[in-house]
Amino acid sequence: MTSGPLVFDTQVLGRRPGTEKSYELVVGAPADLGLDVFGVEEGSDIALELRLEAVMDGVLATGTASVHAVGECVRCLDRVEEDFDADFTELYLYDDATEDDLALEGDLLDLEPVLRDAVVLALPHNPLCDPECPGLCPDCGARLADDPDHTHGEAIDPRWAALTQLTERPEE
Ligand SMILES: [Zn+2]
Ligand SMILES: [Zn+2]
Repeated sequence: MTSGPLVFDTQVLGRRPGTEKSYELVVGAPADLGLDVFGVEEGSDIALELRLEAVMDGVLATGTASVHAVGECVRCLDRVEEDFDADFTELYLYDDATEDDLALEGDLLDLEPVLRDAVVLALPHNPLCDPECPGLCPDCGARLADDPDHTHGEAIDPRWAALTQLTERPEE
């Protein structure tokens, strides 16, 4: 049975083309919204503006979801937070002719799959803490944005490197 904060009952529209209803509400984000590297934390606020309009074949859902996304910079792994607006326009059919189409369940409209697609489209797939982020030092992993003049002086003598590996070898 379909229920939850993202399910809307379209019975008020009476399947009369041209009838519409608007909503403005704040809902908690469902789990796993967004991408692995950059997504919306479960339960964080989503400000949703939604208009449901009855058309001939179904109900047109148009709106904007304003989300707060959290992730890691792909270069330096620093935390990145950004607010995004995800826009969507989708038709929910009264009768699901094919499995690919969105359809109402009776009078109920489940916005969650549309919200998921819209958020994924709106998020940058390679989040950066800064467009110029220099990333991490390949030698020691230090964050170069914090320490731009970072050097290691002389390259480590390979013989010393071998010794270091010996001393770091876990005891057996
Ligand atoms: Zn960064
Ligand atoms: Zn370094």
